[in-house]
Amino acid sequence: MNTTAGARDPVEPDIGGLAEVVPEAGAVAKRVAVVPVRDGVVPLGADEAVAEAGGVALIVGTGTRAAAEALRAVVSGTLVEAGAFAPGRWARGLARALAAHHCVILPGSPDGRDLAPRLAAELGRPLLPGAVRVSDGGAEVVRWDGRVSVELAVEGPFVATLLPGVRGVHAVDGTPDLVESSADHQHAEDAASVEVLAPDPATADLAEAPRIFGAGIGLGDARAVAVMARVAAALGASAGATRAVTDADWADAERQIGTTGVVVNPELYVAFGVSGAVQHTSGLGDPAHVVSVNTDPSCPMTAMAHLGIVADAPAVLSELAARLGV
Ligand SMILES: Cc1cc2nc3c(=O)[nH]c(=O)nc-3n(C[C@H](O)[C@H](O)[C@H](O)COP(=O)(O)OP(=O)(O)OC[C@H]3O[C@@H](n4cnc5c(N)ncnc54)[C@H](O)[C@@H]3O)c2cc1C
Repeated sequence: MNTTAGARDPVEPDIGGLAEVVPEAGAVAKRVAVVPVRDGVVPLGADEAVAEAGGVALIVGTGTRAAAEALRAVVSGTLVEAGAFAPGRWARGLARALAAHHCVILPGSPDGRDLAPRLAAELGRPLLPGAVRVSDGGAEVVRWDGRVSVELAVEGPFVATLLPGVRGVHAVDGTPDLVESSADHQHAEDAASVEVLAPDPATADLAEAPRIFGAGIGLGDARAVAVMARVAAALGASAGATRAVTDADWADAERQIGTTGVVVNPELYVAFGVSGAVQHTSGLGDPAHVVSVNTDPSCPMTAMAHLGIVADAPAVLSELAARLGV
């Protein structure tokens, strides 16, 4: 591992020493992923953004080394310990170091979406938000809730955010080259975080939920879907649904998972009365654990599940609700 401690630059708004550890323009990779981290926690979609940038990453925030070690796609990275999330200050501090990179990619996580427009403004570049693919000449973005794909071509450098759960990641072998830098600009003015609240699974953005219960039309009625949502909330999971369920108005359209709904990437997905149509499963990402509760043992959802429970889904949920007291 190549580790170099960068000297601090006392001149605001540069993030200390960063310019010194960034190679000369000719040697700079065309693409770089900027990954904002809090306390070493890797944000949603970070690995995909790094992979899209060819493994070149600039990891900024707190706990950057732990984050770099958790990322699977980093080939070479600059670690910038920059204190608490401060998008305005970070954008000003990072702009100089990023100016040589043609294409700056951020994950479409909350912090990535916050930092990206500020970076674009600092760099004087266009922002291509919500990309599903980035090329040197622009990006493919989706609009109208994923129903339309648009190729955005730009001349010159740009900043893009990449939608999480779309591109996937191939882990790279070997130990990444990491270069450390630091920052100490507590006095620079910026937006201040008053409080960070834990997300409420019932209202959290499905795309960012680590656990999801999915309602299928096999639940039979809106009441059973509501029971599922209560059970999910009691177990810290978010409630999603198939299009059949949202079309029936048993759940809001924003809860629809799939090609024409939200693309998710939870660790756990529990499907209740879901057949597993490709338009639904293609939006599921790559969950580590899939459970399917279905009366049909041979349906595609159960075939792809790690645990298949052949049972009446409303009855299972009623029992769970009774035991959980919800
Ligand atoms: C262009 C296009 C885009 C689409 N986009 C999406 C999309 O984004 N998302 C999406 O989800 N769909 C989408 N669809 C629809 C998709 O093709 C399926 O029709 C839909 O996903 C099926 O939903 P379902 O699994 O709830 O219903 P079904 O396919 O009808 O399956 C119901 C399941 O419930 C089971 N079941 C029945 N009774 C019970 C019971 N008592 N207990 C347990 N299990 C039971 C059945 O065995 C069955 O497996 C799209 C379709 C098209 C044409």
